Amino acid sequence: ISTFVNIMEGCNNFCTYCIVPYTRGREKSRAAEDIVEEIRSLVAQGTKEVTLLGQNVNSYGKGLEPKIDFPDLLQMVADIVGLERIRFMTSHPKDLSEKLIEMMKHEKICPSFHLPVQSGSTAMLKAMNRKYTREEYLAKVKALREAVPGIALTTDIIIGFPGETMEDVEDTISLIKEVEYDAAFTFIYSPRVGTPAAKIKDDLPVEEKHRRFEAMLDVLNEIVIRKNADRLGQVFE
Ligand code: SF4
Repeated sequence: ISTFVNIMEGCNNFCTYCIVPYTRGREKSRAAEDIVEEIRSLVAQGTKEVTLLGQNVNSYGKGLEPKIDFPDLLQMVADIVGLERIRFMTSHPKDLSEKLIEMMKHEKICPSFHLPVQSGSTAMLKAMNRKYTREEYLAKVKALREAVPGIALTTDIIIGFPGETMEDVEDTISLIKEVEYDAAFTFIYSPRVGTPAAKIKDDLPVEEKHRRFEAMLDVLNEIVIRKNADRLGQVFE
């Protein structure tokens, strides 16, 4: 049995396209003891795997006393006898610490990481208020791969953000090629009323957004299909 467990609510990040901080409010982490207690009781009822959920799980712990961070929580969850596997999502690249990367080596933590990049262009990342650059993102991917060889990497990608140029799209495509994701959630940008990005002039024709999206998808799909095909004939637990 696999079960989802909420560890926090809300978000403090204010990515310019996203409505979550306005609708769900600021980040609020649950007490670690409550989370551990809930998982212990789930394990007693047969749960073998948990997925820890939050808008930004890897900034877990802000404001809690005594001080605790997400890797500490993972360790507490991993110590639960009878629990076999731990997954979590979603992580923000800016909050992916060396400590969390080190923690990924734990045998109970599945070698899989969802790390939403949104764009491979530093200019677009700035416009989206993502608080990392293309280079910083790629450095963290490299560190994850060094810590956990063979780790599966997945992501989220937005095409057609206001002001996007063809060069920005090419940056995203080249980043996809460099990272070689195992899967991705892909979106054509659409404005959310009440967000800062909705106020930016967006005069790119919808046909052009679709053309850019398809160009990105062609590259992504080729990689995803190849990586899945590489596993044909292998046996996994
Ligand atoms: Fe927060 Fe994620 Fe929305 Fe950014 S995209 S504001 S990190 S919920």
